[in-house]
Amino acid sequence: MIPKDPSLYLMEADGSLSLRFLHCGQCAALTFPANSYGCAKCGAPQDSGEIVSRPATGTLLEYVTVHAPLVKGIEPPFVVGDVLLAPGVVEEVVLDVQDESSLAPGIDVEGRACPDPDGRHFECRFAPVAATRKGGTQKGDAA
Ligand SMILES: [Zn+2]
Repeated sequence: MIPKDPSLYLMEADGSLSLRFLHCGQCAALTFPANSYGCAKCGAPQDSGEIVSRPATGTLLEYVTVHAPLVKGIEPPFVVGDVLLAPGVVEEVVLDVQDESSLAPGIDVEGRACPDPDGRHFECRFAPVAATRKGGTQKGDAA
């Protein structure tokens, strides 16, 4: 499978996903997506920096369940969240979870390849990192 949007993410040899950032040549800040107009921090032009790949992992900051068909190809309800991908870089992503029960602010999430319906591409969807889940048996709901 090939990335649906190779300017945003790509698959490493081990199957993990990487995100493509612009690494500023002036202030060394990271900007996502890499194909933006330039450094989000200092405004240096894109061609003064370089594009770097970093593991598609981050920290989930907050999340919300969406009940309207706002994202093409995704049946509501689905969960979107703000993920801290790198210092100062927060992106809103679609989370690959059934509902919010496996989520909490501050947990680690990672990008995974989800097959696109076209059968040729994959999209990057974020989900909780399984290894960091501490065998928590959640009784009842957290509401
Ligand atoms: Zn900069």
